Amino acid sequence: MQRTLSIIKPDGVRRGLVGEVAGRLEKQGLNIVAMKMLHMTKKQAEGFYAVHREQPFFESLTDFMSSGPAVVMVLEADDVIARYRELMGATDCREAAEGTIRRDLATDIEKNVVHGSDSPETAAFEIAYFFNQLEIV
Ligand code: UDP
Ligand code: MG
Repeated sequence: MQRTLSIIKPDGVRRGLVGEVAGRLEKQGLNIVAMKMLHMTKKQAEGFYAVHREQPFFESLTDFMSSGPAVVMVLEADDVIARYRELMGATDCREAAEGTIRRDLATDIEKNVVHGSDSPETAAFEIAYFFNQLEIV
């Protein structure tokens, strides 16, 4: 069993896509073992995306991520990091495969509805960023 962090980003919450995204995860057998809604501060968004600090999109991305409530979840399943990344699709929705969340629902490369950890190391950091052990069932 493996765990990963999923976020329904502020665009997804704003557009009423929480149920749609959660339903897709459940249908694929990616078990939701923790879930909450929160509104990140700019500082919290900067800490979460610290690996991207030098990127040209960092300022805009952290403004966006702190622009409204998001839903953060821990998913648990075999090989869940890769399986969830596949379900999300490519970062740029124009390049995302048919049937993926980003292809079907995202509106641009930044406002792409969902986040998913990209490795076991990032998953551990990202899960601990939002959840303590007691909040994961
Ligand atoms: N992003 C952006 N412009 C880019 C690349 C990324 O606005 O050229 C945003 C987008 O919201 C993306 C996030 O920054 O989801 C993190 O980028 P990353 O490369 O880690 O993509 P992901 O892992 O989310 O597919
Ligand atoms: Mg990433």
